[in-house]
Amino acid sequence: MMQGEELFLLYLAAGCLFILAIRGLASPQTARSGNVLGIIGMALSVGATVWFLPLFHYGAVLAAICAGGIVGTISALKVKMTALPQMIAAFNGLGGLASALIGLAEILQATSYGFEASVGLVVGGLAFSGSLVAFAKLQGGLSSFGQFRYQNVFNGLITLALIGLWAVFLNGEGLAAAVWLLLVTLIWGAAVTLPVGGADMPIVIAILNACSGWAAAGIGFSLANTVLIMTGAIVGASGTILALIMTKAMNRSFREVLFKGGHAAGQSVITGQKSAKAGDPRDAAFILENAAKVIIVPGFGMAAAQAQYAVQAMAAILRDKYGVEVKFAIHPVAGRMPGHMNVLLAEADVSYDDVFELEDINREFATADAAYVIGANDITNPAAKTDKSSPLYGMPVLDVKKAKTVFFVKRSLNPGYSGADNPLFYADNTIMLYGDAKVVTEEVVQALEQS
Ligand code: NAP
Repeated sequence: MMQGEELFLLYLAAGCLFILAIRGLASPQTARSGNVLGIIGMALSVGATVWFLPLFHYGAVLAAICAGGIVGTISALKVKMTALPQMIAAFNGLGGLASALIGLAEILQATSYGFEASVGLVVGGLAFSGSLVAFAKLQGGLSSFGQFRYQNVFNGLITLALIGLWAVFLNGEGLAAAVWLLLVTLIWGAAVTLPVGGADMPIVIAILNACSGWAAAGIGFSLANTVLIMTGAIVGASGTILALIMTKAMNRSFREVLFKGGHAAGQSVITGQKSAKAGDPRDAAFILENAAKVIIVPGFGMAAAQAQYAVQAMAAILRDKYGVEVKFAIHPVAGRMPGHMNVLLAEADVSYDDVFELEDINREFATADAAYVIGANDITNPAAKTDKSSPLYGMPVLDVKKAKTVFFVKRSLNPGYSGADNPLFYADNTIMLYGDAKVVTEEVVQALEQS
């Protein structure tokens, strides 16, 4: 067999493993094996690429693999579960930057002035600067100055400049046009991501993720590298599908999110006159143990407090000792990344059969005696249905207010990620359980054990 054919077959095997990996990741039951298949596929493609390299390239490639491997391993070991979305945004941005730089190098060496290299340059550049802004927003550093006056005009002009420069580049103008194109792309990526906030951030993250994939595919064509084309297309297609699913789940459109700044982060409404009822874990335990049906709604605060084990213990004791029917309700954007709550509940051994998606459980709140909302806020905010000025307007929410009693476990009346005040805190059937989600829930469990 010729060397090229062997390499192609190895790449093909790696591509198949990536497809099986994505398939495995589609469900929590098979996610672990999906991950393993992905790792084998990646090892195979990197190994095959290095094996067939011309000998004089080995030093540089091994140095790059070691540097990347060390940084990746240390950050993966050190990252807190709550900071995982930021890490994904940062790594996604690096993928985009790599594609943009390879595109530029190709153009610099005059090996390619083609469309494929410019796709790597533009889409990779967009993924890089957009992901940097998304990183800063998830970290909480950019939320307050995401918008500026005449932003739409600025974004329109920069889009026109980008299209113009791209046309100039494709007309054969070469390196100078490529450098300008990259610079304008970087500004464009940051400009379109900057105003996005509130409920639209998950959609933008999925779009940026898709962009880094399409950029790699573009570079794959320009380098004639099969595995880059395959993996880039897989990442691009799955990211695009995820973005479409999120857009549908959030009742949004791509145009709204990307070109109108979506529903930007809002300001908290001053709620001076309103008052919320506070309870304590013993009151909560009494109501919960006497309930026939309880629905638990986890949100970002459960992840921040690492309260998944406590909540699992609470569900188990309610079920086993008191015969209560307990279910978990998951909103598509609960937490800070798709599937965030599913991963945490699976980690705490909550059975998949007890976990329900929004559309499957929303009607059941009307028949529930209690909703236990643990560290969640935006995903329950009824203003999303009624208040056109709310940054959450149009997003489907979990109808927790229909339960007889609603417990909100959080540290204060502060708003969540979107910055929008939640009128449910002041509803007659709401009881606030102030405190850290883990501490409060452990106290509820203790009270349930003792009574
Ligand atoms: P949320 O609206 O951000 O609310 C989380 C609540 O948790 C906060 O109000 C906070 O209140 C509370 N909290 C924080 N730490 C806590 C702790 N240690 N103990 C108890 N409570 C704690 O979260 P959500 O309801 O899950 O909604 C998700 C939001 O994130 C949506 O706006 C969504 O669009 C956005 N988002 C989602 C993704 C995604 O892919 N899932 C990505 C980016 C953005 P206190 O400060 O009062 O405790």
